[in-house]
Amino acid sequence: MPPLLRLRGVESCYGRFVALKNVSLVVPHGSVVALLGPNGVGKTTLLRTVSGMMKPTAGEIWFDGVRIDGSPDHAIARAGLAHIPEGRGIFPGLSVAENLQMAAMAGDGPAQLERAYGLFPVLGQRRAQQAGTLSGGEQQMLSLARAIVTKPRLLMVDELSLGLAPRIVAQLFATLQDIRSEGTSILLVEQYVRYALRLADFVVIMQKGRIAFIGESGELQHDGRLVEAYLGGTQAATVDQNGSNAAATSDARPTRKRPGPRAASRRSSRA
Ligand code: ATP
Repeated sequence: MPPLLRLRGVESCYGRFVALKNVSLVVPHGSVVALLGPNGVGKTTLLRTVSGMMKPTAGEIWFDGVRIDGSPDHAIARAGLAHIPEGRGIFPGLSVAENLQMAAMAGDGPAQLERAYGLFPVLGQRRAQQAGTLSGGEQQMLSLARAIVTKPRLLMVDELSLGLAPRIVAQLFATLQDIRSEGTSILLVEQYVRYALRLADFVVIMQKGRIAFIGESGELQHDGRLVEAYLGGTQAATVDQNGSNAAATSDARPTRKRPGPRAASRRSSRA
């Protein structure tokens, strides 16, 4: 069986600037993959390229055995790939209910709406409220709810925790765990590294548009030196589960990279 998502040698550009260079990775069926790395290394670009918002300039993208690079974004979404962009993909001028109904038109309709309200009871209480007046956490819940009413097979989430209090982040990650246990695979870009590692099966770390590390999340969870080597110096690496900044002091960079494409499903050896 092919993996749910496969990228092979993908390159993506903004004009003449090459933001993704020879990126290869897989997201196996039923898995969670965390995409980590400092600011500006290409994580958002990777999600945009997969969801069809950007067209790759080289390489291939396969979704469940079907080649999707070059397909329009709405066709990719219809195939079961939901993308929650950085900064929330909601319509602030519409009510909570309208936001969800619009998203549900592409999915199973009423059953999925009830499921979304079940996962986020606060949205059920605020159906009539204008989405733009919700709190930041509630808006992020709405963006997650909008994605899951389409019953995606792969959910791509970009910085879910951005600007939110740790308590809300914990709640959102608990919901991601529920979504995952219902069979949806997840590709997650996240600054709260500890949360990401706990949820993820595999970790992909990017540096300057390239893949620098692919391995099982347990490798990083149990080896602080790996986290320090690849993510040290970014606040992301040091914010613990309570949101406190434990030791954002060093500016360490990877001492050795792992060149070449590797499958996320393959266990990597130590750097
Ligand atoms: P962050 O965590 O800060 O969002 P990122 O890892 O997601 O970072 P990207 O947003 O993908 O990184 O950016 C990758 C590179 O592409 C950066 O150097 C960025 O400046 C550049 N870039 C991003 N968007 C554009 C754009 N619209 N036009 C030109 N360059 C861009």
